[in-house]
Amino acid sequence: MERTNIVHVPKKAIQDVQETARHIKEQYGAGKKYFVESYGCQMNDHDSERLRGMLDIMGYTPSENKFEADFIIFNTCCVREHAEKRVFGNIGALKKIKDERPNLIIGVCGCMMQQKAVSDRLFKRFPFVDLVFGTNELHEFPQMFEKVLSGVRVKKVQESDGEIPEGLPATRINTLSTSLVVMYGCNNFCSYCIVPYVRGRERSRNISDIIDEAMHLADKGYKEITLLGQNVNSFKSDDGHDFADVLHAMNDIEGIRRIRFMTSHPKDLSDKLIDAMAGLEKVCNHIHLPVQSGSDRVLKLMNRKYDSAHYMHLIDELRKNVEGIEITTDIIVGFPTETEEDFEATLDIVRQAEFSAAFTFKYSPRTGTAAARMDEQVPEIVKKERLHRLNSCCTEIITTNNQKHIGTIGEVFVEGVDMRDKPMAFGKLSNFKMVYFPGDKDLIGQFLNVKITKTKHNSLFGELL
Ligand code: SF4
Repeated sequence: MERTNIVHVPKKAIQDVQETARHIKEQYGAGKKYFVESYGCQMNDHDSERLRGMLDIMGYTPSENKFEADFIIFNTCCVREHAEKRVFGNIGALKKIKDERPNLIIGVCGCMMQQKAVSDRLFKRFPFVDLVFGTNELHEFPQMFEKVLSGVRVKKVQESDGEIPEGLPATRINTLSTSLVVMYGCNNFCSYCIVPYVRGRERSRNISDIIDEAMHLADKGYKEITLLGQNVNSFKSDDGHDFADVLHAMNDIEGIRRIRFMTSHPKDLSDKLIDAMAGLEKVCNHIHLPVQSGSDRVLKLMNRKYDSAHYMHLIDELRKNVEGIEITTDIIVGFPTETEEDFEATLDIVRQAEFSAAFTFKYSPRTGTAAARMDEQVPEIVKKERLHRLNSCCTEIITTNNQKHIGTIGEVFVEGVDMRDKPMAFGKLSNFKMVYFPGDKDLIGQFLNVKITKTKHNSLFGELL
C-alpha cells in the first residue's frame, strides 16, 4: 500500500481558525452554552476535545445538559453495530427542543458523517440539523459554524487528502491522564472494518510536533499519556522515524511518568518496538494486541496479514522480554464462513495467550466493507452461542490469572474514588490492571504502592503500603 502524500495544514490556516473563533466570540458568543456528545473510540473522543477547544475560544461555555445548550453537536462513530440507528434516533429526538427553541443550533460530525451516503441521508431527513461535516473538516469548524450563525445550513464532507492539522486547540476532559494522537488513518483494510474508508490512509505526524505537544501536556501536569493511532505501531514519519523512536523520545520528557499506546497491529510489532518496551522505564508493561480469530483460514479472510503461529510467536517474545507484561485483545466471533472448528481455534489461542482482558464482539456487517459482501454469513443464534462460550472461556482464564497477582506489590496511579460502599480509591497498575483499595479523594493523582490481597471479576483489591 502506498503512503499518502502528507500535507500539513498551513500554520496560516490554523491562525485563521483562531481568528474566526475570536470573531464569533465578539459577535455571538456571550453567555452561550454548548453540549458535545461523543460516540466511539478514543480518537473520536480526542476530536471532541478539539471541538471543545475551538468552542471555548468562541466564548461558548460547556454544559452538561443538552436542554439548556445553545449548540448541540453529536460526534458520531460508525464502527459499532446499529450505530446509525442510534444516532438517527437521538437526532430525531432533538426536533421537539428545536421547535421550542428555534435558535438552537444542531451539528453532526465524525466518522459516520464521513460516509457520504449517510450524511446525505441525514441532512435530507432532518432539515432542522444546521451543520454536518466529516472527519477531514474538523479544522474548518469555526468557519462553517460562522456561516450557520449567519443563517445558512452547511454540509461539508470531503475525501481525505492526507492533511494533518497541527496546533488546533483542545480542551481535555481528564486532568491527570490524556491521549495524544501520533498518526491518523489506516492502510490495512481488514475486510470487516470501515475505518480506512472514513479515516483515510495512514499519515504520521512529525516527531518534533509530537514531542512539543507532549512537553506542553507535561507542563500542564499530565503524568500519563496514551499515544493514539488507528494502527499506532505502523507510525512512520517523513524523516524516517518509527514508533519505537517516538517511545524513546517520549521517555526523555520530564514530568511524564507513564506512556501507553494503542491500537497495535500484530504485523507491525517489530523487535525494535519490543526492545523499546523492555528497556524504557516509562513505557507501561501492557499491550493491546487484537488477535480477532485463532483460525488461520478466518484470519486470511479477514485480511489480517498474520497467522496464529506468528501471533503466538509475538506473545512469546513479549513475555520473554517485557517483565510482567499483560496482554489484552479484541476478538470477533461469527465472521462469515466461520465453522465450529474455526471457533475452536479461537478458544485455543485464548487459552494459549492467557489474555488479561478481551473485548469480544459478534461479527456484524458494515456496509461498504468486503466482509459484508461475503456469502455464508453465520446465523445470529450461532454467533450468540459462540460469544457466550468465548466469554466464559475468557472469564475463566482471567480469573485464574488474576490469582497470580495476590501478594504482589504494584504502583497504582490513583484516578478516582468509588463511594458506592465505603470509599475505595482506584487506579491502574502499569500493566493496565485496575486496583481498588481503601482510600479517599486526597489520593487522586498520586502514584502509590499497593499490596494486592484479593481479586474479583476483572479487578484486583489491595491495601496501601
Ligand atoms: S487495522 Fe484493521 S481493524 Fe484496525 S483500523 Fe485498520 S482496518 Fe480497521
